[in-house]
Amino acid sequence: MSSPAWMSHKLDDGRVACDACSQHCKLQEGEYGICGIRRVENGELRLLTYGIAAAVNVDPVEKKPMFHFLPGSRIFSFGTVGCNFSCQFCQNADISQYPKEHPHRIIGRPLSPAEAVATALEYGCDSIAYTYNEPVVFFEYTYDTARLAHEAGLKNVYVTSGYETRKAIDTLAPYLDGMNIDIKGYTQSFYKDICGASLKPVLDAVEYAHSKGIWIETTTLLIPGLNDSQEEIRSIAHFQAALSPDIPWHISAFHPMYKMQDRPRTPPETLRRAYEIGKEEGLRYVYVGNIDDEARESTYCPGCGKMVIDRQGHIGQYITNHLVEKNRCPYCATAIAGVWS
Ligand code: SF4
Repeated sequence: MSSPAWMSHKLDDGRVACDACSQHCKLQEGEYGICGIRRVENGELRLLTYGIAAAVNVDPVEKKPMFHFLPGSRIFSFGTVGCNFSCQFCQNADISQYPKEHPHRIIGRPLSPAEAVATALEYGCDSIAYTYNEPVVFFEYTYDTARLAHEAGLKNVYVTSGYETRKAIDTLAPYLDGMNIDIKGYTQSFYKDICGASLKPVLDAVEYAHSKGIWIETTTLLIPGLNDSQEEIRSIAHFQAALSPDIPWHISAFHPMYKMQDRPRTPPETLRRAYEIGKEEGLRYVYVGNIDDEARESTYCPGCGKMVIDRQGHIGQYITNHLVEKNRCPYCATAIAGVWS
């Protein structure tokens, strides 16, 4: 199924400019965008994956990862094929890179926005995640679903590489409650050579989405020898702490995936050191991921230092939430930042 990709505008020279992401594709009749799922047909940009979900699951919200967003709740999660990045270490390359590996083919099962909302409610979810591939490439599908979700009392979360344009963020912000944004590294060379993108638009999107009042958490996958120097880790933490020390930072362990089979897994000591660096830079909420480490997956009160949400499991899915009045430390009543109801 295809649908007008209205997050776009026509240019004087006859091309169509896509306004969804910072790849800023300018396309002629018949051309596909870098994501492989937006194409100009009869002078109009079309989204070719509208209503076609390639991956659908009910997940614990902690898996996104979102640790300060309705902890312990279920989140209905779906994505389509296609992506605006080409990360060599992609963990969902079978769907994200599908249109590049199988030109002009779209796969998935029908899932209209109304069906997504109805299924989320049926399975007792409190929110919907647009995830698995990059959601901004199927922007109009997420927008229509998010609007219906809000009408039904559900919240919405983007799990994203942070390439949304300001126009996309402005348009979606009234319906978008949370984002987990990857900060994949802190060098242009990493973004360009490994991901097919640029660093600056990502940092701009983090800042802009935060300024719009959307709840932000970030994730960095530490890949041995590529983005795990102490200097680079500190730069990410410093950037984020300057924006707000309340933004949770998830530091994840890499394991060989997709085109990156030649690197070892991230040693636990690298994650532990990154955790310490995040704290040294002033971040209040730092977490390790893809590893079972209760001490570094749990939430501590920034006021008294006591554990207020206990998490176990490699994605922190086993939770004992000690917060009172939804968001307050039970020992000193300090408010913990996040979305709690
Ligand atoms: S969403 Fe796709 S078509 Fe639009 S700018 Fe990004 S890569 Fe290009």
